[in-house]
Amino acid sequence: MPPVPPTTLNVAMTAVDATQVGETGVITSAMFGGAIPLKKSLMEAVDAATCGQTHAALDATVMATEWYVLQVTWSGEQVGELLFYRTLRHCMVRGAEAYRWAGPGPLTLRDAAAFTWSKVEIAAVGQFANRFLYGNTFRYNGICATCKGELPVWRVKNGEWCESCWRSYYYTVTPVNLTQKSMGIGA
Ligand SMILES: [Zn+2]
Repeated sequence: MPPVPPTTLNVAMTAVDATQVGETGVITSAMFGGAIPLKKSLMEAVDAATCGQTHAALDATVMATEWYVLQVTWSGEQVGELLFYRTLRHCMVRGAEAYRWAGPGPLTLRDAAAFTWSKVEIAAVGQFANRFLYGNTFRYNGICATCKGELPVWRVKNGEWCESCWRSYYYTVTPVNLTQKSMGIGA
């Protein structure tokens, strides 16, 4: 078998989450509600974070936001072992090659060959409906059950919502950050 080269993978998070990970040295699957998404590039990681269940992801549709990207490197030998035990799993996400940390156990930074943090600022990404209402039944001429406005609506949770009302509601049920999500707050 040919030797596996060292691999560097990326995961982006808010400042609060980065502080939490920095202090504990671990990323838990509870922060993501499942396997930890790891991307091959820094910007793929930021893009994934802006689709996540955090207030920062919702904010990112309308304002500039900053993200902390953790870049973790494992040696070829480590990667081979992690893949063999299926702790690390190769996958395709919307056509792009990616990885997931499937555990068992958290991703522990001291076990990696190296890691580094990068701060990335991005402009507003827009596309709230595309990111957070995609896949729900859409009607162009509808009446929003909440504001009673005659405008495009999406059917979500047995009700019809305009983009603005869904956005307001979704804010109240979304965790502020991954650290809160891991504690089951707002999830
Ligand atoms: Zn409305």
